[in-house]
Amino acid sequence: MKYIKEAFDHNWVAPLGPNVDNFEKVLADYTGVKHVAALSSGTAAIHLALILLGVKPGDEVIASNFTFSATINPIVYLGATPVLVDSEPGTWNMDPGLLEQAILGRRASASAAPSLKLWSVSDKASADKAEHRVKAIIVVYLYGMPANLDEIMAIANKYEIPVIEDAAEALGSRYKGKPVGSTGKFGVLSFNGNKIITTSGGGALISDDGKLIARARFLATQARDKAPHYQHSHIGYNYRMSNVLAGIGLGQMEVIDKRVEQRRNNFNFYKKNLGGIEGLSFLEEPDESYFSNYWLTTILIDPVKAGKTREDLQTALEKENIESRHLWKPMHQQPVFSSCPAYLNGTSDELFAKGLCLPSGSNMSDKDRMRVLNAIIKFLTK
Ligand SMILES: *Cc1c(COP(=O)(O)O)cnc(C)c1O
Repeated sequence: MKYIKEAFDHNWVAPLGPNVDNFEKVLADYTGVKHVAALSSGTAAIHLALILLGVKPGDEVIASNFTFSATINPIVYLGATPVLVDSEPGTWNMDPGLLEQAILGRRASASAAPSLKLWSVSDKASADKAEHRVKAIIVVYLYGMPANLDEIMAIANKYEIPVIEDAAEALGSRYKGKPVGSTGKFGVLSFNGNKIITTSGGGALISDDGKLIARARFLATQARDKAPHYQHSHIGYNYRMSNVLAGIGLGQMEVIDKRVEQRRNNFNFYKKNLGGIEGLSFLEEPDESYFSNYWLTTILIDPVKAGKTREDLQTALEKENIESRHLWKPMHQQPVFSSCPAYLNGTSDELFAKGLCLPSGSNMSDKDRMRVLNAIIKFLTK
């Protein structure tokens, strides 16, 4: 409220102003990157990252298959084709082995049939250009869990493909001590209302490349040339964060560590008290390299071992007025993306069939958690 009041008192009710500048500084400090552009959404950040990497009609972008559609939509905005890569069972994020298969597979198919394009409107792909049709890799950190970044970066570097880290759900998570979003060419953050911190709606593009972030700010403010009149040499977007909302972000960044602790407490509480139940397992940090913000606590119910299905559990919780939700529906199962090339291993299908997000809000009291816990235990062990 203090930061919002300041914005009004100084009449900075605009898509720029001191709160925006300060929010960018605070985010840069927190994530350890040099430059940040505060934007209107995480989706806008992904869109600009792809534009800055030169993604054009006829190109391909490899992305995590197990994600929310906002990861994939901007690829299609640009007339490029999403290439979906399935998950590994340990982190539920992009499987590095499959990533390499996808890169090699796209090269093979590009030289075999250079005209096979799904959303393409351009027909310039020559044989050697086809080799480089994969312009970017978007790796997602679902539910806050970092991906196997060492292996993914090694493969991306081997084939010289830039990586965009979709850390929309993972602010506060770290891989080998390094904040997520700070390793690839770009990191993407979201401050949508459902994320670990929020500006009601908003996002950020982060990078060590100052020129690219300056370019992102330019494109995000309608690409106005430096001229005494309104002049444009490029197509621009209205993607900047407002100074009022950046004020909310500044307030939220004062409590981010507390929010991470609260979300991790939820996970630890569920894990400690449900860990022994047959047929119930958690998405959990595979080893000390991984530090998750545990945005949501997510479980799998094995119907054979548990003797009950995920649906049964969800219905039982619903009867006690406790909401739980299915995991993200994988992109290859989405009607709109069903024709995209996909490199699958069955993992996301299985996660989608057996998974459940448990109540995970930062504001859950001990009493709330006990109520959820007792409902789960009562149902699964009776
Ligand atoms: C929320 C989310 C986004 C999009 O962020 P918005 O700010 O809502 O546009 C992108 N990717 C993932 C994985 C998300 O969860």
